[in-house]
Amino acid sequence: MPKILELDPHVADLIAAGEVVERPASVVKELIENSIDAGAGIITVEINAGGMTYIRVTDNGCGIAPEDARTAFLRHATSKLRGAEGLDAIGTLGFRGEALAAIAAVSRIELLTREHGAREGVSITLEAGEVRDVSPAGCPEGTTIIVRDLFFNTPARSKFMKSDRAEGSAVTSTVQRCALSHPETSVRLIKDGKTECHTPGDSRVDSCIYSLFGRDFSAGMIAAGSEDDIISTTGYVSAPSAARGNRSYQFFFVNGRSIRSKTLQAALEQAYANSHPSGRYPSCVLYTTVRLGDVDVNVHPAKTEVKFVSDKQVFDSVYYAVLGALDSQRREQPVALQDYGSQFSILNSPSVPYRTPRDSSAGTGGSDTQRYSDASVHGSAPAYSDASSVSFRVIGEALNTYIIVERDSSLWLIDKHAAHERIHFDALRSEGFSPMSQALITPIICRHGHEDAALLLENAELLDKLGFTIESFGEDSIAVRSIPAEIDISETEPVLSEVCVQLKLGGSAEPTRRDEIYRSVACKAAIKAGRSSETDELRALTARVMSGEISSCPHGRPVAFELTKSVLDRSFKRS
Ligand code: ADP
Ligand code: MG
Repeated sequence: MPKILELDPHVADLIAAGEVVERPASVVKELIENSIDAGAGIITVEINAGGMTYIRVTDNGCGIAPEDARTAFLRHATSKLRGAEGLDAIGTLGFRGEALAAIAAVSRIELLTREHGAREGVSITLEAGEVRDVSPAGCPEGTTIIVRDLFFNTPARSKFMKSDRAEGSAVTSTVQRCALSHPETSVRLIKDGKTECHTPGDSRVDSCIYSLFGRDFSAGMIAAGSEDDIISTTGYVSAPSAARGNRSYQFFFVNGRSIRSKTLQAALEQAYANSHPSGRYPSCVLYTTVRLGDVDVNVHPAKTEVKFVSDKQVFDSVYYAVLGALDSQRREQPVALQDYGSQFSILNSPSVPYRTPRDSSAGTGGSDTQRYSDASVHGSAPAYSDASSVSFRVIGEALNTYIIVERDSSLWLIDKHAAHERIHFDALRSEGFSPMSQALITPIICRHGHEDAALLLENAELLDKLGFTIESFGEDSIAVRSIPAEIDISETEPVLSEVCVQLKLGGSAEPTRRDEIYRSVACKAAIKAGRSSETDELRALTARVMSGEISSCPHGRPVAFELTKSVLDRSFKRS
């Protein structure tokens, strides 16, 4: 007897259904996608018991002709794809003709549909994939599908379902994703008789976001966009102050399809690399549009992943869209003190272009301290007033790390290393920055190993812009002929090692590589926590922070905390 036998079609259907229909949320996703493909302007989703007992999706789309009603439930029956050549340019969300067959195989279904302009519609019912009844019906134009008792005939699958509440919230996220993917469609979700969300369908992304996530969330979003002939990215990203503890509000859409993509996530997060501390994540609703032939949508069973012809092209499109949004926000945002928890305020302000050390208006030149001082610093003055006339008094330094400052009716604590690092970093990044380098009489030979030496040499031009002159020196070493003025000769090797580490971690986009190098140099050049500093140095740093130029270090950590008098009074029960 042969060992290999063809499976019974019914069993084959159940296996296929397992790929498409994992849980109620996957049924809802497929049904909404069908409604969107049918051109619906209004879609209503209703579920009971997390979707396990009842899911209904109603749309005002094109409807299905009576003669097609049965066929729609056959496996690989679709109106969206005719031949293999069509696979290269799929413009619809569906194309495999699997969803209705898969859902029908594991539930009891009722479909009611009428084509636009047709006199009558049709009703069809199925149970476990078997057609029970087909009959003419009077119904509104469009389609309604009711799915009852999901997995009633596959107890093994139903055992894997979570609580109704958990399944219901998975449905909510699916509906949110679908609604965001097509802001021109109004989507409503009703759960156990109560409306959970309802988008306006006015084609505006901002009103769609507002209706789904509320006022506070949408107030923290800024518009983003980048466009060229072959690819565009538009949408909204969160302001750095609105960072979250997880990635659950990162939404990416490619050609109208919600997808998960490591490439897009990396592009987003690298654009924030200088504004977020690690462990905090940006949110986004970003729509990338590429030519149909530049993306393969047929690579994942649930169609939630795609393959790009050029990852770099989409990375850059998203990266620059986000970077542009962050830059314009920095320019426009007024100086503001924002709430930070209940006790402190964090200084959050626009970054004013930094005057480079060679800029004559930046001070008297010479030592670091003077370079970063404003012309009006007077060593003996008890209160400092800079060009933007912010007055404050430096009380002193605590723990060799924090500067304590009195300003108006508040005390401020400033992390001196973080502040100095940011000043260096901004200086390095500023347009027209010309490095001050120190030529080394005897070049330093750094033995970094073959791979690192090659990496440094590849980036020699970027390093040169910072004041490092490097040359190849044998297989696995480089010769360093000059280094930036700000760093100590003994730091040469450690800085270059750090640059290598950052280059390997970072992305391949040039701005990212440049920032990684700047960050490493700024960190090494900044005064160290744990080392005491001169009064003038502290005052100059404080001036920069108080003028509102700096709000976070290049790694995104805050540089200053405010402790208001009222908080202090309350702590001492002085009210
Ligand atoms: P696919 O979406 O991949 O084509 P489905 O199994 O999801 O496969 O649907 C099969 C066919 O049924 C679709 O190609 C479409 O013609 C029709 N159809 C399904 N849902 C709808 C709907 N809501 N409105 C109009 N036609 C629909
Ligand atoms: Mg479909």
